[in-house]
Amino acid sequence: VIRPLFAANWKMNKQVSEVRAYVQGFIQAALPLEKCEVVVAPPSTHLTTLGSEAQNRVFQIAGQNCGPAASGAFTGEIAPGMLKELGADWVLLGHSERRHVFHEDEALIGKRLSAALSAGLKVIFCVGETLSERKQGTTRAVIEKQLGNLKLAQKGKDLVVAYEPVWAIGTGEVATPEQAEEAHRWIAEWCGAELGQTPRILYGGSVKPENSAELMAQRHVDGLLVGGASLEAESFAAIIRHGVRGWESKVSLMKEVLK
Ligand code: PEP
Repeated sequence: VIRPLFAANWKMNKQVSEVRAYVQGFIQAALPLEKCEVVVAPPSTHLTTLGSEAQNRVFQIAGQNCGPAASGAFTGEIAPGMLKELGADWVLLGHSERRHVFHEDEALIGKRLSAALSAGLKVIFCVGETLSERKQGTTRAVIEKQLGNLKLAQKGKDLVVAYEPVWAIGTGEVATPEQAEEAHRWIAEWCGAELGQTPRILYGGSVKPENSAELMAQRHVDGLLVGGASLEAESFAAIIRHGVRGWESKVSLMKEVLK
């Protein structure tokens, strides 16, 4: 049985002094953590603090990116093994801001992916089309090209895909449940055909407590990647609470159909 995954991307926000209150707030929210997996990706400088605050294992920890090799002349980069040393089990790769603000190309993202997997990190691999690509009708082709790097991953590796339409990230404009489901189905089909396995597929892009249940009720939505609305513990907790509810309603519906 797969468990839904909820991931928080803090991006370049928060001070170390705010971490403790966040973890306390999250614990107090008393979430059904046995029913889901939660990952928080803070700025790398906050990993140690977040790790020691969250020692009771309320969530796992992720880096927001990692260097393209185990070590070497890569000024400004943090090696995957260094993230692990600080308690991260996961890393985000190919995030839209890395692709579009920092112009990371497929070749570089592929190197990061290989380095992350060799170091034993679990990967949340982000893909998604821009607004003009969607308008041109090339969404599926764009996503499949981005997914190409996943062929580097051996079967059985702990891999998660996040579908994050660029036009929905940080804009307040969430994809409709139908748009999300369509893209997730394409991703599931591609992974099934090319990788022989279907990873969990998260939706990301202006997720809020008000839309998480409906998104999670979609057939191929296995979790959510949340930016802005994950910065407050209460809001991230509400997303998880409603999201688990949406997930459960879908699962019980599917069981009915299979009876
Ligand atoms: C993200 O950063 O991955 C993201 C989805 O951001 P937001 O939720 O703010 O749109």
